[in-house]
Amino acid sequence: MKIVHLSSEFAPFAKAGGLGDVLTGLARELTLAGHEVEVILPKYDFITQKSPLPLQKEFQDFYCWEKGESYRNTMWSAFVENCRLLLLEAHHPKGYFSRGKIYACEDDIARFLYFSKACLEYLKARNEPIDILHLHDWPVSIAAVLAKEIYKLPIRAIVLTIHNADYQGHCATWDLDAIGLHGAKYLTKESFEDDRYPNAINLLKGGIVFSDAVNTVSASYAKEILTPEIGGPLSETFRLHQAKIRGITNGIDYHLWNPCQDPYLETHYNSALSSMEIENRKESARNQLRKQFNLHLNQRPWVGSITRIVPQKGPKLLEAGLDKTIDLKGSFVLLGSSPIPSLQEHFEHLKRKHAKSENVLLQFEYNEALAHQIYASLDFLLLPSLFEPCGLSQMIAMRYGTIPIVRATGGLQDTVFDWANPKVTADKRNGFVFKNATNTDLFSALSRAFEMFRKDPETIQVLSKRGMQQNFSWEKPAKEYVKMYLNLSP
Ligand code: ADP
Repeated sequence: MKIVHLSSEFAPFAKAGGLGDVLTGLARELTLAGHEVEVILPKYDFITQKSPLPLQKEFQDFYCWEKGESYRNTMWSAFVENCRLLLLEAHHPKGYFSRGKIYACEDDIARFLYFSKACLEYLKARNEPIDILHLHDWPVSIAAVLAKEIYKLPIRAIVLTIHNADYQGHCATWDLDAIGLHGAKYLTKESFEDDRYPNAINLLKGGIVFSDAVNTVSASYAKEILTPEIGGPLSETFRLHQAKIRGITNGIDYHLWNPCQDPYLETHYNSALSSMEIENRKESARNQLRKQFNLHLNQRPWVGSITRIVPQKGPKLLEAGLDKTIDLKGSFVLLGSSPIPSLQEHFEHLKRKHAKSENVLLQFEYNEALAHQIYASLDFLLLPSLFEPCGLSQMIAMRYGTIPIVRATGGLQDTVFDWANPKVTADKRNGFVFKNATNTDLFSALSRAFEMFRKDPETIQVLSKRGMQQNFSWEKPAKEYVKMYLNLSP
């Protein structure tokens, strides 16, 4: 099949979270299965600044109309991560993709509407049949209606993957007018009208309505979004379109996440080694961190998190987890920052509070190398999410022999099974799980983990190795995507 992905992220070149990882892992696996895969991404300024890609100019320049003007665009291509990456350069006076970042610009709506439309202009000019146009999240979900109603491209089917239904792309009818869609026409309950604010356009909703199939990134989350608690006002739309929605649990990219050949680690390891040897090598990763930050961090176990600090990730519980870890005489490591100023300020206050502690490391930045070193160093990864479409961190952690402690929600409950869970066979139990988003439940899970760490190291070794031996690669999920693609009739 010829599969074209439109996306705002692609790891490692442009990554803000799990979406970037998913694109790379899925695209690579689809190519390995023999499919022809292209990923179209904006040519963000930082991509070529950071990594010199062997870029080639594709095709002749083409134009895209916005608010009465036509702007020139150039498409570049490079063969990376085993697939064809196409980078759309917009010669737009507002420098839409020259902002040094992917999101969080005031005009994100206009930027990504323009990107989506320009992609379709390109595909139209190229005029080649496509089996699957695969869209990811709100930034490109407008492409479904554009492809179907305006461009009428030779595409067999359109798929929308929802990586996080909390981000929906709210805008006004005139934002659609700006790219030549008649906004008012789409302000209806059956199409783009937001289910809470009747005067607003909801781009994600339009994507759900106009795509032929929709999937979320875990089976549990596909069910949870049908409820108002998790799906919010959009749950009504999800229920209405339930027949075309399914869940496919993400994999992780085994090339990017591999403790056996990780370029960021000084010492490598895999599950074939003895538990004692794995422990020695994880200790070497801990020493890398101790040296870098000039901290003792000598209390064990190490508990930590690598996460965006946003309400979804349960920041209050993270803070409670930090306090409890220190009470229990462990060490706590956090890598992550918050796009929400008040939350960021709060965590900076916590850092000042713990400034004298030799057992707390709070690092507020996006740092790929450090993320790898922390995954390898931790004993326990804490993920107290309030909701979690899939979550990659828990799977990455397990690959590095780190035991997850998670809240039972979304993809976390599909991938982590409590050590004491009688409902799953013993060989599936791989972590600690707590039910409610309360300090009581969190503390109980943390205390159980600490107790096992101190009194029953053999079982800790079993859990750690079991996680490393599990197969979280993209092999199985990619097969499910292919099955979904094949089931879609023209
Ligand atoms: P989400 O997509 O909601 O942020 P996921 O668990 O699906 O959460 O994916 C998060 C990805 O981003 C993981 O690969 C994680 O290691 C990475 N990540 C999160 N925060 C940081 C950070 N501060 N520095 C480096 N990597 C990070």
